[in-house]
Amino acid sequence: MKEIDIDKYSYHIEWSEELKEHKSTCLEFPLLNASGSNPELALIEIKKLIRETVNWIIEKKQQLPEPLYLKNYNKEIDEVSELEFKDVLTGLYNRNYCKQVFKEYAETETAFSFIYFDIDEFKIINDVLNHDIGDEILQVVSNSLLNVLGEDSFLFRLGGDEFACIVSEKISSMSAEECIDRILSIFNDTIYLETVTIDITISLGVVYYPQNISDVKDVFKVAEIAVEEAKKSHTNSVCYFEKELKNKLESKILIESNLASALRNEELFIVYQPIIQYDDSQSITFEALLRWQSKVLGLVSPVEFIPVAEDTGQIYPIGLWVMDKAMEKLAYLSKKSSKKIKMSINISALQIKEPNFINNVKHLLEKHKVSSNSIIFEFTESVFIENNQLTKEIIENIRNLGINTSIDDFGTGYSSLIYLKDMDINYLKIDKTFIDDLGKTRRSDALVESIINIGHKLDMEITAEGIETEEQLSILNDFRCDSIQGYYYSKPLPEEELDKYL
Ligand code: C2E
Ligand code: CA
Ligand code: CA
Repeated sequence: MKEIDIDKYSYHIEWSEELKEHKSTCLEFPLLNASGSNPELALIEIKKLIRETVNWIIEKKQQLPEPLYLKNYNKEIDEVSELEFKDVLTGLYNRNYCKQVFKEYAETETAFSFIYFDIDEFKIINDVLNHDIGDEILQVVSNSLLNVLGEDSFLFRLGGDEFACIVSEKISSMSAEECIDRILSIFNDTIYLETVTIDITISLGVVYYPQNISDVKDVFKVAEIAVEEAKKSHTNSVCYFEKELKNKLESKILIESNLASALRNEELFIVYQPIIQYDDSQSITFEALLRWQSKVLGLVSPVEFIPVAEDTGQIYPIGLWVMDKAMEKLAYLSKKSSKKIKMSINISALQIKEPNFINNVKHLLEKHKVSSNSIIFEFTESVFIENNQLTKEIIENIRNLGINTSIDDFGTGYSSLIYLKDMDINYLKIDKTFIDDLGKTRRSDALVESIINIGHKLDMEITAEGIETEEQLSILNDFRCDSIQGYYYSKPLPEEELDKYL
């Protein structure tokens, strides 16, 4: 970039006025020198961008020869907008600025493509290689992106490993297709860092404005859904937002808007599925499974609404409500039965990070006067994988209260067992997908048997979930699995039907 001394140009003041009026941002502007001849272009950062400004510039540009770029035109403005609009780690534009550009393009009815992508399995890369290397990857990727797309492209880091690019065929120098090709080209090659080399892939979603989406506030959601869809297929894949996804989004939005009142309207309830021990008929565990009977949408599966609740933060009150009801039920059943009753409760990874989580649990234990060692908290592997100090402390606090911990869906999330070594985990639930294959191949049997053996060596009790046949039951018995859960024994039951198990 060639720098220009602004004072050489007599018209800059007038132009600044004009710019102020146009509320423009970071564009090329013509500057005239003192004699009024030799017009040149300058790049100036100003706060806002509107369509007329763009047209105005394009118009002027046509009469002007070589563009020059002006840096530090106004240092103060630069610094402010730098903080406000730039991502510190990578130097790319940030999420705020992305929203702003999107909004302003939409307001001026500029047709454009919103290209959104994230790095596959970045969380695992980050955890395994450590965060400094994760940061380095983000920086290297950002630089490569700037290289292939050009310094003047609207390229954003939205946060974490999420990036976006806004391309308008009218304003940008390339088409959306070309932009996507250039982005993908980076990830076809191995990435070389100082200490490691790594192959990374991305998943990319494309949304066209205004064909696919008209409301700015939905754009990130829409793009995320397209990326999720891309992740389902092979690596470095692209998903164009089409009708099918639109329906998905609409159902997500419907869930979101109706879930807000679900608790208040008492539309949530819990069913309980028994977990039976092979060698102890005197004890029984129930897993609390949440249900939503929506007045508008009918019965909605937790597989659909829990992720939405996690997105919106509604998981906090809902999760608390589930703990409250499940403990209340535990107290009731324990009083009525001569058996030892336990209650297993699914806890979302987000829930435990809420600062009040442990206090709330303590409060509920006291409220319902239940013994903490009758309670099991089920977490998916993702909770343990994080393996950071905070998670460790929370798990420790849960254990100090006397509550048991369990890994749900074991074997589906992650291929490392390192976390088993230093987290205090009492139960391990083998995921249904492994159970489905039991008795079918020697290898799948061997795998389940090994999981059970490893678990036992680490003093964990093993539960198998999703048992549907007698054959599965008997194989698991041979393998010395401790307890089973599944339709073979019982489906989840409404609370009125629990008494028969007491
Ligand atoms: P999960 O914790 O793995 O729960 C087991 C799921 O498998 C349940 O589905 C259960 O009904 C189903 N299942 C049990 N035995 C069998 C079987 O033999 N065959 C088949 N085909 N399915 C069986 P459900 O109730 O739809 O729950 C789905 C998921 O929703 C749960 O998976 C859990 O991850 C989540 N979830 C449910 N309730 C809560 C909750 O209160 N809080 C949180 N955070 N998540 C919940
Ligand atoms: Ca579970
Ligand atoms: Ca499970």
